[in-house]
Amino acid sequence: MAAEDNARNGWHASESAAVLEHLETHVDGLSRDAAAERLARHGPNRLRPPRRHGPFVRFLLQFHNVLIYVLIAAAVVTALLGHWVDTGVILGVVVINAVIGVLQEGKAERALDAIRDMLSPQATAIRDGRRITVPAEELVPGDVVVLQSGDKVPADLRLLRVRELRVDEAVLTGESVAVDKHADPVPADAVLGDRLNMAFSGTLVAYGQATGVVTATGDHTEIGRISSMLADVEKLTTPLLREIAVFGRWLAGAILVAAALTFLFGLAFRDYAWGEIFLAAVGLAVAAIPEGLPAIMTITLAIGVQRMAGRNAIIRKLPAVETLGSVTVICSDKTGTLTRNEMTVQAVATAEADYAVSGVGYAPEGAVERDGAPVDPEAEVVLAELLRVALLCNDAVVGRQEGDWRMEGDPTEGALMTLALKGGLDAAELHAEQPRTDAIPFESEHRFMATLHHDHHGAGVIYLKGAPERVLEMCSRQRTADGDVAIDPDHWRGVMDGLADRGQRVLALAARPADPGQQELAFEHVDEGLVLLGLVGIIDPPREEAIAAVRQCQEAGIRTKMITGDHALTARAIGRELGIGDGSRVLTGGDVEAMDDAALERAVAETDVFARASPEHKLRLVQALQASGERVAMTGDGVNDAPALKRADVGVAMGLKGTEVSKEASDMVLADDNFASIARAVEEGRTVYDNLRKALLFLLPTNGGQALVVIAAVLAGLLLPISPVQILWVNMVTAVTLGLALAFEPTEPGVMARPPRAPTEPILSGFLVWRVAFVSVLLVTATFGLFLFAHTDDAAMEYARTVAVNTLVVCQIFYLVSARFVRRPALAAGLMRGNPWVPGSIAAIVVLQLLFTYAPPLQLLFGSQALAFADWLRILGAGLAVFLLVELEKWLLTPERGGRAPEMASTTR
Ligand code: ADP
Ligand code: MG
Repeated sequence: MAAEDNARNGWHASESAAVLEHLETHVDGLSRDAAAERLARHGPNRLRPPRRHGPFVRFLLQFHNVLIYVLIAAAVVTALLGHWVDTGVILGVVVINAVIGVLQEGKAERALDAIRDMLSPQATAIRDGRRITVPAEELVPGDVVVLQSGDKVPADLRLLRVRELRVDEAVLTGESVAVDKHADPVPADAVLGDRLNMAFSGTLVAYGQATGVVTATGDHTEIGRISSMLADVEKLTTPLLREIAVFGRWLAGAILVAAALTFLFGLAFRDYAWGEIFLAAVGLAVAAIPEGLPAIMTITLAIGVQRMAGRNAIIRKLPAVETLGSVTVICSDKTGTLTRNEMTVQAVATAEADYAVSGVGYAPEGAVERDGAPVDPEAEVVLAELLRVALLCNDAVVGRQEGDWRMEGDPTEGALMTLALKGGLDAAELHAEQPRTDAIPFESEHRFMATLHHDHHGAGVIYLKGAPERVLEMCSRQRTADGDVAIDPDHWRGVMDGLADRGQRVLALAARPADPGQQELAFEHVDEGLVLLGLVGIIDPPREEAIAAVRQCQEAGIRTKMITGDHALTARAIGRELGIGDGSRVLTGGDVEAMDDAALERAVAETDVFARASPEHKLRLVQALQASGERVAMTGDGVNDAPALKRADVGVAMGLKGTEVSKEASDMVLADDNFASIARAVEEGRTVYDNLRKALLFLLPTNGGQALVVIAAVLAGLLLPISPVQILWVNMVTAVTLGLALAFEPTEPGVMARPPRAPTEPILSGFLVWRVAFVSVLLVTATFGLFLFAHTDDAAMEYARTVAVNTLVVCQIFYLVSARFVRRPALAAGLMRGNPWVPGSIAAIVVLQLLFTYAPPLQLLFGSQALAFADWLRILGAGLAVFLLVELEKWLLTPERGGRAPEMASTTR
């Protein structure tokens, strides 16, 4: 341990060569075999998961609940009174409830874990001298890792080479200002925050690039050492669930008071024996409290999250499931989310000629043509130079893999690479002829990329490509076949607008000789004096499914706004194809900057297309939309998108091309970067909400009905139609079977045809109160009715009670089928179709009731008796009556018929 600590404290104080030697590695990384061997020795680079309680503790934790305390107290009292059967049944309820709780929790947690695994990060390592992408879990000490802006540092690294690296170390040091890093040794006694040549696992690269060697992985990293609490277990809850939990506690209190009053009333004004009325009060309390509610809510949520993951929307923060259902505006990036991100250069324009390019995709199959005939690049000097820039000022790789042409890198650059290959250039040859000395990478903020090259005679040249307005500012001359002449900006603007108006993304390419002896490239070197070579126009067709999703969102009352770094005309043309915006109005980032908050608020209400926008504009857009009461989902992929993602109601990051930083800031990650997945997530979010509401709509009235049976009997001074133990039985079998089935309800047709739910709309609505009262009364009437009918029949009371129990259960079954559809008639909607759990749980409960009625041991326990066929018919008739009356209620309250159910009218069909 001491030796390890020494090494750990020594990394930052040593020269990097010494560190590499100590770790027995090399700047070109480990070999694949060495890495595999070390992985076996050191174990995966993963933090030990936070400890979870074992099954037994979880089981015990289920008892930590007010209701269960009440039940246990009741069990003790019944035992003291010698009512052993009651004691047994009550304890049975308690244990079964706890077992179900443990199982549900386990299922929900497994669902979330599986989803978290879908988000495990990747790292870029150098192995066998080649850059490869590996799962961050497979990194080992000695691995050489490449960092770039937007990455999450995958392990503790001693930096070897640094290019303006700034790291946000807030997770480790609490310091929110990003720290500038370098590669030189620092004093041995430097504290964590001062070890400027180290990058620590879990911190975020805010800017720049670097390479570093892994010094520690997994639990040996600084973050692993300070705590394993950091990898917090997410609580299975959302604001809505908390609201329901609070409501549940109030309800429990109210029910206890009601039970106490019933007890006192029965004792004082009716001549029940005190033991009997006590048991009745206990039965009442147990029957009325919807103890299955938390389990059903949790599982509904977990199922929703799982379904979303199946449709490529990975939820990172559970409350987003709810928020999604009330989103009113989706702000989406254009490139790659709304469009396919499969870019093809279609047009090239130099000062003197226009070219068309044939072929689609990244396969360099096609040609550069002029006036319908393929050109000879040798004869077209300006074109030849432009193609050279396209190839060299480029980080993409286009190559053949298993016979298919594949592109790796930024699609815009891939398109340019393919263009150069179509023009007959050879990448390997050019790279060898003019190796790159330095580069300024592309960023959305500055919208260009530049590279510095030297040939073998030492002559240097700067190549640059970027957004045309930007590049035009830097150029003073333009290239022609006869040499460089003064630039004609108006001409170029005309060409640019022409291309952009056809929906093409336009890039300008330029060059300039380097200063003598220049070895580094900085912004000041490209400020001016460049020579413009020409423009290229790139198409990036909209995704078909995005067009459909935009339309679907519109029907669902959700507006889609498109945000892009592209030119205003390009954005407008693509917006038109996607059905976003009115086809004319576009705001640019510059316009946004010129507006104050009030003006922006007005403008965003009318504009759906935003062009030449950078991340800081996104943040202002979110704020402006929120200020006018919208609930905003915002997509993003870069480091600088993080503030806007955090600020949005639902921040959406891209799973494929997004940076780790953006994912970290998001609520949801799209596994396929596809806009259509957001629309699907909204649909699932609305379904979850519907199902939560259906569970309430079913559980509360049935519990209410059970309770009312007892209260009514006591008030009227009648015999209890259902004995206390029987009440417990009914409560147990229905709550865990019938209610749970609703968690699996599929999406109702028409969820995406109604407007978003207002976030202020309470789930415990006036309609719910009405429905609880209505159904409770129906259940009581049916149960009492058939009980009295059977009782006067001079049959034994046991017989009548068996009728009553079965009536109550059967009526609940019929009500379940109706409650699957909040508004739609159940008959038309297919009764049990679409959710196999409904017939399944009904079958289960039928078996249980038959056992209850006919199995001798249960007859002994519950005092039940075999029923005659005629009674079953009457019971089914009662169930059918309940079903029809609820359907009638739905029909009467249908808004189109002028019925009044205000808070339901707009939101649920
Ligand atoms: P988007 O938000 O649509 O992805 P970007 O911010 O990526 O837009 O790009 C904005 C503009 O910058 C593009 O219209 C293009 O002119 C230019 N551009 C895009 N990618 C590159 C690149 N790799 N190198 C140079 N310029 C680029
Ligand atoms: Mg982009």
